Amino acid sequence: TLCDLNDELLPLSQAKVSVLDRGFLFGDGVYEAMPVYGRKLFRFDEHMARLSRSLAKLRIPNPLDRDAWLARVRRLVAAHPADDQVVYLQVTRGVAPRDHVMPPGLIPTVFMMSNAMKPVSAQQRHQGVACITARDFRWERGDIKSISLLGNVLARQLSADADAAETILLRDGAAGGPWLTEGSSCNVWLVHEGALLGPVMDEHVLEGIRVGLLRELCEGLNLPFNLRPLSESDLRTADEILLSSTGKEVLAVTRLDGEAVGHGALRGKPGPVYARLYEAYQQAKRE
Ligand code: PLP
Repeated sequence: TLCDLNDELLPLSQAKVSVLDRGFLFGDGVYEAMPVYGRKLFRFDEHMARLSRSLAKLRIPNPLDRDAWLARVRRLVAAHPADDQVVYLQVTRGVAPRDHVMPPGLIPTVFMMSNAMKPVSAQQRHQGVACITARDFRWERGDIKSISLLGNVLARQLSADADAAETILLRDGAAGGPWLTEGSSCNVWLVHEGALLGPVMDEHVLEGIRVGLLRELCEGLNLPFNLRPLSESDLRTADEILLSSTGKEVLAVTRLDGEAVGHGALRGKPGPVYARLYEAYQQAKRE
Protein backbone atom coordinates (compact mmCIF):
# COMPACT_ATOMS: atom_id res chain seq x y z
CA THR A 1 0.00 0.00 0.00
CA LEU A 2 0.97 3.59 -0.61
CA CYS A 3 1.78 6.20 1.97
CA ASP A 4 2.41 9.93 1.74
CA LEU A 5 5.74 11.32 2.92
CA ASN A 6 6.08 15.08 2.49
CA ASP A 7 3.51 15.14 -0.32
CA GLU A 8 5.03 12.22 -2.21
CA LEU A 9 2.97 9.05 -2.66
CA LEU A 10 5.16 5.98 -2.43
CA PRO A 11 5.15 2.39 -1.16
CA LEU A 12 5.43 2.17 2.62
CA SER A 13 8.62 0.11 2.30
CA GLN A 14 10.29 2.97 0.41
CA ALA A 15 9.36 5.80 2.76
CA LYS A 16 12.49 6.90 4.64
CA VAL A 17 13.19 9.76 7.03
CA SER A 18 16.47 11.15 8.33
CA VAL A 19 17.91 9.81 11.58
CA LEU A 20 18.17 13.49 12.56
CA ASP A 21 14.40 13.88 12.36
CA ARG A 22 13.30 15.14 15.76
CA GLY A 23 10.48 12.64 15.74
CA PHE A 24 13.10 9.88 15.77
CA LEU A 25 15.48 11.53 18.26
CA PHE A 26 13.02 13.13 20.70
CA GLY A 27 9.54 11.87 19.88
CA ASP A 28 9.03 15.55 18.96
CA GLY A 29 5.79 15.45 17.04
CA VAL A 30 2.06 14.84 17.10
CA TYR A 31 -0.36 12.57 15.30
CA GLU A 32 -3.97 11.86 14.48
CA ALA A 33 -5.83 8.64 13.66
CA MET A 34 -9.17 9.16 11.95
CA PRO A 35 -11.79 6.78 10.67
CA VAL A 36 -13.03 6.50 7.09
CA TYR A 37 -16.37 4.76 6.46
CA GLY A 38 -17.44 3.94 2.92
CA ARG A 39 -14.51 6.09 1.71
CA LYS A 40 -15.95 9.10 3.53
CA LEU A 41 -13.96 10.84 6.25
CA PHE A 42 -15.70 10.75 9.62
CA ARG A 43 -15.39 13.89 11.80
CA PHE A 44 -12.51 15.21 9.69
CA ASP A 45 -12.83 18.83 10.87
CA GLU A 46 -12.79 17.78 14.51
CA HIS A 47 -9.60 15.76 13.96
CA MET A 48 -8.02 18.73 12.15
CA ALA A 49 -8.96 21.09 14.98
CA ARG A 50 -7.33 18.75 17.52
CA LEU A 51 -4.23 18.46 15.31
CA SER A 52 -3.95 22.26 15.24
CA ARG A 53 -4.27 22.42 19.03
CA SER A 54 -1.61 19.72 19.55
CA LEU A 55 0.79 21.47 17.13
CA ALA A 56 0.24 24.85 18.78
CA LYS A 57 0.99 23.40 22.23
CA LEU A 58 4.36 22.15 20.88
CA ARG A 59 4.99 25.37 18.91
CA ILE A 60 5.20 23.45 15.65
CA PRO A 61 3.72 25.49 12.78
CA ASN A 62 0.84 23.69 11.06
CA PRO A 63 2.41 22.89 7.68
CA LEU A 64 -0.94 22.76 5.83
CA ASP A 65 -4.28 24.51 6.01
CA ARG A 66 -7.52 22.57 6.37
CA ASP A 67 -8.23 22.29 2.63
CA ALA A 68 -4.68 21.16 1.84
CA TRP A 69 -4.94 18.48 4.53
CA LEU A 70 -8.28 17.41 3.10
CA ALA A 71 -6.83 17.07 -0.41
CA ARG A 72 -3.88 15.01 0.83
CA VAL A 73 -5.96 12.74 3.01
CA ARG A 74 -8.48 12.18 0.20
CA ARG A 75 -5.73 11.28 -2.23
CA LEU A 76 -4.36 8.72 0.23
CA VAL A 77 -7.80 7.24 0.91
CA ALA A 78 -8.44 6.94 -2.84
CA ALA A 79 -5.19 5.00 -3.25
CA HIS A 80 -6.22 2.34 -0.71
CA PRO A 81 -8.38 -0.65 -1.71
CA ALA A 82 -10.52 -0.80 1.46
CA ASP A 83 -13.78 1.16 1.85
CA ASP A 84 -13.39 1.44 5.63
CA GLN A 85 -9.98 2.69 6.71
CA VAL A 86 -8.07 4.38 9.52
CA VAL A 87 -5.88 7.22 8.32
CA TYR A 88 -2.81 7.78 10.49
CA LEU A 89 -0.98 11.08 10.05
CA GLN A 90 1.89 12.58 11.95
CA VAL A 91 3.80 15.84 11.92
CA THR A 92 7.25 16.09 13.48
CA ARG A 93 9.20 19.27 14.05
CA GLY A 94 11.65 18.40 11.28
CA VAL A 95 15.31 17.56 10.73
CA ALA A 96 18.11 19.39 12.59
CA PRO A 97 21.35 18.73 14.49
CA ARG A 98 20.43 17.19 17.84
CA ASP A 99 19.72 19.87 20.44
CA HIS A 100 16.94 19.99 23.01
CA VAL A 101 16.24 23.64 22.18
CA MET A 102 13.71 23.97 19.38
CA PRO A 103 15.61 25.10 16.28
CA PRO A 104 13.82 27.94 14.49
CA GLY A 105 12.63 27.74 10.92
CA LEU A 106 12.46 23.96 10.49
CA ILE A 107 10.32 22.35 7.83
CA PRO A 108 8.00 19.87 9.57
CA THR A 109 8.04 16.27 8.35
CA VAL A 110 4.55 15.12 7.31
CA PHE A 111 3.81 11.42 7.09
CA MET A 112 0.48 9.72 6.40
CA MET A 113 -0.57 6.12 5.90
CA SER A 114 -3.91 4.39 5.75
CA ASN A 115 -4.87 0.89 6.85
CA ALA A 116 -8.00 -1.14 6.40
CA MET A 117 -10.17 -0.68 9.46
CA LYS A 118 -10.01 -3.70 11.70
CA PRO A 119 -13.52 -3.96 13.12
CA VAL A 120 -14.09 -5.07 16.70
CA SER A 121 -14.84 -8.82 16.65
CA ALA A 122 -18.40 -10.08 16.94
CA GLN A 123 -17.46 -11.81 20.17
CA GLN A 124 -16.15 -8.58 21.71
CA ARG A 125 -19.29 -6.76 20.57
CA HIS A 126 -21.59 -9.30 22.17
CA GLN A 127 -19.64 -10.21 25.29
CA GLY A 128 -17.68 -7.05 25.99
CA VAL A 129 -14.01 -7.04 26.88
CA ALA A 130 -11.84 -7.55 29.94
CA CYS A 131 -9.67 -4.69 31.23
CA ILE A 132 -7.21 -4.24 34.03
CA THR A 133 -6.36 -1.10 35.98
CA ALA A 134 -2.94 0.42 36.56
CA ARG A 135 -1.54 3.56 38.11
CA ASP A 136 -1.33 6.38 35.56
CA PHE A 137 2.43 6.97 35.54
CA ARG A 138 2.49 9.04 32.35
CA TRP A 139 3.53 12.67 32.07
CA GLU A 140 1.30 15.68 32.86
CA ARG A 141 0.42 16.59 29.27
CA GLY A 142 -1.85 13.81 28.16
CA ASP A 143 -3.94 16.51 26.43
CA ILE A 144 -1.33 16.64 23.64
CA LYS A 145 -1.67 13.89 21.03
CA SER A 146 2.08 13.36 21.11
CA ILE A 147 3.92 10.61 19.24
CA SER A 148 5.94 10.11 22.47
CA LEU A 149 3.83 7.18 23.64
CA LEU A 150 6.18 5.21 25.85
CA GLY A 151 3.98 5.62 28.92
CA ASN A 152 0.96 4.45 26.92
CA VAL A 153 2.95 1.54 25.46
CA LEU A 154 4.10 0.39 28.91
CA ALA A 155 0.56 0.71 30.23
CA ARG A 156 -0.96 -1.20 27.32
CA GLN A 157 1.55 -4.03 27.64
CA LEU A 158 0.36 -4.70 31.21
CA SER A 159 -3.09 -5.62 29.86
CA ALA A 160 -1.60 -7.54 26.93
CA ASP A 161 0.36 -9.60 29.46
CA ALA A 162 -2.90 -10.25 31.34
CA ASP A 163 -4.80 -11.17 28.12
CA ALA A 164 -7.00 -8.11 28.57
CA ALA A 165 -8.13 -5.59 25.95
CA GLU A 166 -7.09 -2.36 27.64
CA THR A 167 -5.44 -0.82 30.69
CA ILE A 168 -7.63 1.68 32.53
CA LEU A 169 -5.48 4.29 34.24
CA LEU A 170 -5.97 5.74 37.72
CA ARG A 171 -4.03 8.86 38.61
CA ASP A 172 -2.84 9.69 42.13
CA GLY A 173 -4.05 13.08 43.27
CA ALA A 174 -5.84 15.05 45.91
CA ALA A 175 -8.25 13.59 48.46
CA GLY A 176 -10.90 11.28 47.16
CA GLY A 177 -8.61 9.86 44.46
CA PRO A 178 -7.02 8.10 42.75
CA TRP A 179 -8.88 9.55 39.77
CA LEU A 180 -9.91 7.88 36.55
CA THR A 181 -8.12 9.38 33.55
CA GLU A 182 -8.41 7.18 30.43
CA GLY A 183 -7.23 3.97 28.81
CA SER A 184 -3.80 3.50 27.25
CA SER A 185 -5.31 4.34 23.84
CA CYS A 186 -8.96 5.23 24.44
CA ASN A 187 -11.30 7.26 26.63
CA VAL A 188 -13.20 5.59 29.46
CA TRP A 189 -16.86 6.12 30.43
CA LEU A 190 -18.95 5.05 33.39
CA VAL A 191 -22.69 4.63 33.69
CA HIS A 192 -24.24 5.51 37.05
CA GLU A 193 -28.01 5.80 37.46
CA GLY A 194 -28.54 5.93 33.72
CA ALA A 195 -26.12 8.81 33.13
CA LEU A 196 -22.96 8.64 30.99
CA LEU A 197 -20.06 10.00 33.03
CA GLY A 198 -16.57 10.84 31.83
CA PRO A 199 -13.60 12.44 33.57
CA VAL A 200 -12.87 16.15 33.21
CA MET A 201 -10.85 16.62 30.02
CA ASP A 202 -7.86 18.27 31.71
CA GLU A 203 -4.10 17.98 31.04
CA HIS A 204 -4.08 14.30 32.10
CA VAL A 205 -6.54 13.17 29.44
CA LEU A 206 -6.54 13.16 25.65
CA GLU A 207 -9.91 14.52 24.59
CA GLY A 208 -11.06 11.97 22.06
CA ILE A 209 -13.02 13.06 19.04
CA ARG A 210 -15.63 10.64 20.34
CA VAL A 211 -16.09 12.76 23.47
CA GLY A 212 -17.96 15.40 21.50
CA LEU A 213 -19.68 12.73 19.45
CA LEU A 214 -20.92 10.84 22.52
CA ARG A 215 -22.16 14.11 24.00
CA GLU A 216 -24.25 14.65 20.84
CA LEU A 217 -25.48 11.06 20.78
CA CYS A 218 -26.53 11.31 24.44
CA GLU A 219 -28.48 14.47 23.66
CA GLY A 220 -30.30 12.68 20.85
CA LEU A 221 -31.07 9.73 23.13
CA ASN A 222 -32.08 11.87 26.12
CA LEU A 223 -29.32 10.32 28.22
CA PRO A 224 -27.73 12.55 30.87
CA PHE A 225 -24.07 13.27 30.01
CA ASN A 226 -21.60 14.71 32.49
CA LEU A 227 -17.83 15.23 32.71
CA ARG A 228 -16.66 15.36 36.33
CA PRO A 229 -13.86 13.94 38.51
CA LEU A 230 -14.40 10.17 38.77
CA SER A 231 -12.84 8.22 41.62
CA GLU A 232 -11.61 4.67 41.75
CA SER A 233 -14.74 3.74 43.67
CA ASP A 234 -16.93 5.35 40.96
CA LEU A 235 -15.12 3.04 38.53
CA ARG A 236 -15.51 -0.09 40.63
CA THR A 237 -19.19 0.46 41.41
CA ALA A 238 -20.30 1.51 37.91
CA ASP A 239 -23.38 -0.10 36.33
CA GLU A 240 -21.52 -0.09 33.01
CA ILE A 241 -18.02 0.78 31.81
CA LEU A 242 -17.44 1.82 28.18
CA LEU A 243 -14.37 2.56 26.06
CA SER A 244 -14.30 4.89 23.05
CA SER A 245 -11.76 5.50 20.31
CA THR A 246 -11.43 5.66 16.53
CA GLY A 247 -10.83 1.91 16.34
CA LYS A 248 -13.09 0.71 19.16
CA GLU A 249 -15.94 3.12 18.39
CA VAL A 250 -17.80 2.36 21.65
CA LEU A 251 -17.08 -0.90 23.41
CA ALA A 252 -18.40 -2.42 26.64
CA VAL A 253 -16.04 -3.47 29.44
CA THR A 254 -17.58 -6.47 31.19
CA ARG A 255 -14.67 -7.57 33.41
CA LEU A 256 -12.39 -5.30 35.41
CA ASP A 257 -9.37 -6.76 37.20
CA GLY A 258 -11.03 -10.16 36.97
CA GLU A 259 -14.37 -9.04 38.47
CA ALA A 260 -17.63 -8.94 36.52
CA VAL A 261 -18.80 -5.35 35.88
CA GLY A 262 -22.32 -4.19 36.80
CA HIS A 263 -25.14 -5.41 38.97
CA GLY A 264 -28.00 -7.91 39.03
CA ALA A 265 -28.98 -9.77 35.88
CA LEU A 266 -26.71 -7.57 33.75
CA ARG A 267 -23.58 -8.34 35.73
CA GLY A 268 -20.75 -9.24 33.34
CA LYS A 269 -22.85 -8.37 30.26
CA PRO A 270 -22.87 -5.31 27.97
CA GLY A 271 -25.54 -2.96 29.36
CA PRO A 272 -28.44 -0.95 27.92
CA VAL A 273 -26.60 2.38 27.71
CA TYR A 274 -23.84 0.69 25.73
CA ALA A 275 -26.42 -0.89 23.40
CA ARG A 276 -28.13 2.44 22.71
CA LEU A 277 -24.89 4.33 22.14
CA TYR A 278 -23.55 1.59 19.89
CA GLU A 279 -26.68 1.74 17.71
CA ALA A 280 -26.60 5.54 17.61
CA TYR A 281 -22.92 5.44 16.66
CA GLN A 282 -23.63 3.07 13.76
CA GLN A 283 -26.36 5.45 12.61
CA ALA A 284 -24.01 8.47 12.82
CA LYS A 285 -21.46 6.64 10.65
CA ARG A 286 -24.00 6.22 7.85
CA GLU A 287 -25.24 9.82 7.86
N1 PLP B 1 -6.99 8.62 24.79
C1 PLP B 1 -5.85 8.16 24.25
C2 PLP B 1 -4.63 8.05 25.12
C3 PLP B 1 -5.81 7.79 22.89
O1 PLP B 1 -4.66 7.32 22.35
C4 PLP B 1 -6.98 7.91 22.10
C5 PLP B 1 -6.92 7.58 20.67
O2 PLP B 1 -7.55 6.73 20.13
C6 PLP B 1 -8.16 8.36 22.72
C7 PLP B 1 -8.12 8.73 24.06
C8 PLP B 1 -9.47 8.44 21.97
O3 PLP B 1 -9.44 9.45 20.98
P1 PLP B 1 -10.32 9.34 19.67
O4 PLP B 1 -11.76 9.23 20.08
O5 PLP B 1 -10.05 10.64 18.97
O6 PLP B 1 -9.86 8.15 18.88
